[in-house]
Amino acid sequence: MSNVIAQPINLYDLSRPRLGQLLAAWGHSDYHAGLVWSGLYRDLAVDPESIASLRPDLQGRLATSTLITNLAMRSVIDSADGHTRKFLLELADGQAIETVLMYFRGRATACISTQVGCAMGCIFCATGQMGFRRHLTAGEIVAQVVHVARELRRSGQSLRNIVLMGMGEPLHNYEATMAALETVMDQRGLAIAPRFITLSTVGVVPGIRRLTQERRPMRLAVSLHGATNEERSRLVPPASRWPLEQLIAACRDYTETLGRRIFFEWALIDGSNDGPEQAHALGRLLHGLDAHVNLIPLNPTTGFDGRPAEPPAAKAFQAILAGYGLPSTVRQRRGIDVAAGCGQLATLQP
Ligand code: SAH
Ligand code: SF4
Repeated sequence: MSNVIAQPINLYDLSRPRLGQLLAAWGHSDYHAGLVWSGLYRDLAVDPESIASLRPDLQGRLATSTLITNLAMRSVIDSADGHTRKFLLELADGQAIETVLMYFRGRATACISTQVGCAMGCIFCATGQMGFRRHLTAGEIVAQVVHVARELRRSGQSLRNIVLMGMGEPLHNYEATMAALETVMDQRGLAIAPRFITLSTVGVVPGIRRLTQERRPMRLAVSLHGATNEERSRLVPPASRWPLEQLIAACRDYTETLGRRIFFEWALIDGSNDGPEQAHALGRLLHGLDAHVNLIPLNPTTGFDGRPAEPPAAKAFQAILAGYGLPSTVRQRRGIDVAAGCGQLATLQP
């Protein structure tokens, strides 16, 4: 054979057009690529050989030349309130990531990781505290979504919402993240609607500019936590690389070019960034922007001894924002007892 393939191809790494090209190179029409695609993302096949109704020669070729990312489940843990389930999933090289399934008002949402660890070093975030290990591949990001979709299917439910708020900074792993999102949005497969996908970034300005240029259809959330460069960089080190002037300019461009609202996230830390001055500074910073503020009372992590804001402080903060015409929500705390809340995801191994 002339085209012996040394390394099996991970089908989860391939876009729908690339899958078509691969099968064309093997002499199969695009109709067959469609069957494989729907086997992977409609039937959620656990391996390429088990995709039903394929020609035997194609089935044989898939068995010898391809694989799909197998994320071995190291552990699964449910929060006491039953609203959150956290999976510790093992990658082929032995590294591990966390993926979370949450239920908000009956809606299932998957919280997906894009990196093992994170290079951004936000001081209150468990992922930041563990440092950067590596980027995830597109296939590893897709595999998490499929994992959660399979889990839901067992109880007759389907996955409609995704937040890229797990481990890592998605805009630091731009290519793989976008490739994975293309796959999960594909109508002929998982068909997750772009308006039900939220990408959260610490504020990587070149990445936000690229999302705008490429007119990426999902929703955008930007983690602020401070409304002046000085206060923000105390909590979020990348703030000194991409100062607020640049960040807000990029956000303004995004909302105006795409006609889409931006969500701003703010971890409310007692006595640190939950006071009226900070609320006014945030109001002034975002004034006139099509914005919604998500306030997240700080979740505990081992490497940071701050405390969550008290509910009255959160209410007062919201009232000040409302004075600037800024809508806001205090995010429900979920999964804290099993360390599956925002910023609590980390894996301990070499
Ligand atoms: N890297 C991206 C996405 C992952 S973090 C980002 O930073 O946006 C998802 C959200 O959880 C971010 O808004 C982040 O600031 C927030 N977060 C991190 N640690 C937290 C903590 N200990 N308590 C509450 N929110 C936290
Ligand atoms: Fe990374 Fe986001 Fe955690 Fe900051 S908050 S360290 S960017 S995962």
